[in-house]
Amino acid sequence: MSFKALLVEKTGDETRASVQEIDEGRLPEAGVTVAVEYSTVNYKDGLCMGPGGGLVRSYPHVPGIDFAGTVEASDDDRYKPGDKVVLTGWRVGEAHWGGYAQKARVKADWLVPLPGGLTTRQAMAVGTAGFTAMLAVQALEDHGLKAGPILVTGAAGGVGSVAVALLAAMGREVAAVTGRPEQADYLRDLGATRIVPREDLAETVKRPLESEAWGGCVDAVGGAMLARVLGQMEYGASVAAVGLAGGADLPAKVIPFLLRAVNLLGIDSVLQPYENRVRAWDRLARLLPMEKLESMVVPATLEDLPKLGADILKGRVRGRVVVDVGG
Ligand code: NDP
Repeated sequence: MSFKALLVEKTGDETRASVQEIDEGRLPEAGVTVAVEYSTVNYKDGLCMGPGGGLVRSYPHVPGIDFAGTVEASDDDRYKPGDKVVLTGWRVGEAHWGGYAQKARVKADWLVPLPGGLTTRQAMAVGTAGFTAMLAVQALEDHGLKAGPILVTGAAGGVGSVAVALLAAMGREVAAVTGRPEQADYLRDLGATRIVPREDLAETVKRPLESEAWGGCVDAVGGAMLARVLGQMEYGASVAAVGLAGGADLPAKVIPFLLRAVNLLGIDSVLQPYENRVRAWDRLARLLPMEKLESMVVPATLEDLPKLGADILKGRVRGRVVVDVGG
């Protein structure tokens, strides 16, 4: 038995990604076998389709850090054939073969049942990026969201788009930072009440404290922009740091933490315990307006992936790429 997959092979320093027929015997021996229906393109997938950036453990490799599909066979009582499941995290698509294949075999612990009310396609329209946006919003809630507008950086990207829609659905005023002015209408349709051009936050920190402007922040960009935003937070407000699309260095001053009691909260979606994953997925299914989720979707096939992987690393993808793996 064989199945179709996007396989990344490495020769010397060169990697090459191509769609191939793979024998089922190459999957791990133990685990739950899932007929993958949909996967997505996340920033890490872009890295894993290229030279790997230290993420991929061994080649040949199947990327795809998330997927949704139907259980075909199971070595665990929690899942039986026919069950619909979702996977995010656990280094699947990095250290283990992932969702860019019509079949995946993974540990039962890594799966969650498809949340009620979502199709497998909708679950992947949310995907790792949306799941992470929910974790970020929950972290802000846990630390007390302040009154002012909530800032979302990297807003037209995957995490940003879902964060904007979620916060708006919660009745919050949302300010969306984007470097793409042509995405302003898209962001307003998702619920942003204010568009902040990226260049407004591009200057490096000159004064460690500026006017208090934001009641919370979901930051997908990091780097100099995050450093700047820290000095603009309301007293006692929190920033949920999700990503580093704008760089890994943080040229910040300690002053916002000392004089404004700002909290910098780290968000990790990879190693979330089962209960947290189920709670976040349930809230996503209940809160996120499905028509807004649909407006974020860029449909794709396995064949489209190498180009989309390169695009996401350049910040050129809008919203969520949903890959129809079943074909
Ligand atoms: P996307 O590429 O979809 O979105 C990133 C957005 O950041 C872009 O769309 C762009 O938004 C903005 N951006 C890109 N480059 C720059 C730059 N040089 N300077 C300023 N802004 C920039 O990626 P995702 O939303 O999927 O992921 C965002 C980050 O979050 C990534 O670093 C990713 O690795 C990380 N991540 C972390 C997770 C975790 O568990 N902590 C889970 C998922 C993702 P615009 O055009 O609107 O300005």
